[in-house]
Amino acid sequence: MSTKKRILVIGAGVSGLTAIKACKEENLDVVCYEKSGEFGGLWRYHENSDDRFPSIMKSTMSNTSKEMSAFSDFPPPSEFPTYLHHSTVLKYFEMYAENFDLLGSITYYQEVVEIIPSEDYGTTGKWLVKVRNTRTDESREEIFDGLMVCNGHHGYHYTPTYPNLALYSGKNLHSSRYKSNLGMEGRRVLIIGAGNSGVDIAAELANVSKKGVFK
Ligand SMILES: Cc1cc2nc3c(=O)[nH]c(=O)nc-3n(C[C@H](O)[C@H](O)[C@H](O)COP(=O)(O)OP(=O)(O)OC[C@H]3O[C@@H](n4cnc5c(N)ncnc54)[C@H](O)[C@@H]3O)c2cc1C
Repeated sequence: MSTKKRILVIGAGVSGLTAIKACKEENLDVVCYEKSGEFGGLWRYHENSDDRFPSIMKSTMSNTSKEMSAFSDFPPPSEFPTYLHHSTVLKYFEMYAENFDLLGSITYYQEVVEIIPSEDYGTTGKWLVKVRNTRTDESREEIFDGLMVCNGHHGYHYTPTYPNLALYSGKNLHSSRYKSNLGMEGRRVLIIGAGNSGVDIAAELANVSKKGVFK
């Protein structure tokens, strides 16, 4: 029987990939459960992403340079531009995963739905993990010595409420659901918030939306 510690990495985004690599380097028995059918997390573009599988927008470029965003032990190829389109970011993740042989540790369509201390947690420190197969909806329980929670922090959006918002009959969209400026041609648009997403979207909408000072 293996005496290696059994470690679960939850989520196969970029954090999950680096976690798998770190566990392998420590000679731990690692498995990664990913609820979707692909690695890459937010950086895998979906035309119709929803709260379950959020993704970046069609035109998203990294706003951190490739040098700033580099894996320290696997620099991006010199022919890559300084700021990467999301498809190149994903390509880079793929190269990293293949180089360090990480993909074989990932099992897809496995959603971690609950984690509680095992019955003997006091003496073993083990965790009882409830996992749902997202294709069959079947659930099971497994015991792990350790967990690395890599489920991302942009998965669920927060939409503030405003008085009378329910009376507004126009299109009302959270940035996590914005994919491209298609359908926004000639419209008056109010963007609430000038963070990274707000500014990216403003720059893109400025090409097609109605211009001018609105009163
Ligand atoms: C529009 C946008 C632009 C960004 N631009 C940049 C940038 O330019 N540079 C930068 O450094 N960062 C940027 N970020 C930040 C981004 O969060 C990180 O780059 C990176 O995606 C975080 O990786 P992660 O692995 O932590 O999470 P995620 O990419 O969110 O991956 C989490 C993974 O966990 C899976 N998962 C979630 N819950 C479960 C569960 N219960 N069970 C099993 N699997 C689960 C998900 O399906 C997903 O695959 C941007 C974010 C957004 C939204």
